Amino acid sequence: MTVLSAADVSYLAEVPELLVAMDFDGTLSPFSVDPYNCRAVPGAMDALHTLAGLPGTSVMVISGRNIELLSAVTELDASRSAQAARGGDGIIRMVGSHGAEPADKPLVKLSDPQRELLSQLALFAEQQAQRDPGMWVERKPVAVGLHTRGAKDRSVAVTAAQEYQDFALDCEGAKVTVGKDIVEVSVVSATKGGYVSEFLAQATPAIDAVVFAGDDTTDETVMNILRPGQDIGIKVGEGESAATRRLPDPEAVRDFLQQLAQARAARG
Ligand SMILES: [Mg+2]
Repeated sequence: MTVLSAADVSYLAEVPELLVAMDFDGTLSPFSVDPYNCRAVPGAMDALHTLAGLPGTSVMVISGRNIELLSAVTELDASRSAQAARGGDGIIRMVGSHGAEPADKPLVKLSDPQRELLSQLALFAEQQAQRDPGMWVERKPVAVGLHTRGAKDRSVAVTAAQEYQDFALDCEGAKVTVGKDIVEVSVVSATKGGYVSEFLAQATPAIDAVVFAGDDTTDETVMNILRPGQDIGIKVGEGESAATRRLPDPEAVRDFLQQLAQARAARG
């Protein structure tokens, strides 16, 4: 893996049809204990807005957050985002719940067993969260996340997260994702990679290159579907990844997006 280079920026600036897809937490924004009180680093969303208005440039923010929370922190309007149609139309596409909740599509309707499973997961997660006042449960339309970042006692948090995970592994139809200080259990099998893959298959005109940045395990599903020699995956921060490039933090991602916007705006 290498640091993203000026040559990468030039390549991405020149391709006719580009998809810029970004994770949010830990990629565009630093981490925060309060899920609402968190914003992209200054300039990052502006750069995405600029990119979205350039010809042949599609922009997507794809997150594990549900659309409501993603909309709050990106300050993007979900109904406007739902109008995103083609590259250069100036609209940033929002995709929530790991691809299960794109702003432009109604949420999949859950079956009775799925709804029952979701409420069992919520009940169990709430019980775990009560063990430490810093833990909390995020209820999403298709998943329940147990957040442990704010826990006062790390060992309590680790045990609670492990027990939630073990409980979920015994539930048929539950999909467990372990991220940074969150164990999330979904009742549908959406992944970010599955969403991006389908988006590429359906895009007209075809997307010549994707640049995707992400910091967490769920982002690896995208890294794994990127086309070698054509798309560029950027791992943000430390850790193993299938990405071919790395940037240290959200500030560096912002700087990259600004450079890309400038270079792409200047192309002939
Ligand atoms: Mg992230």
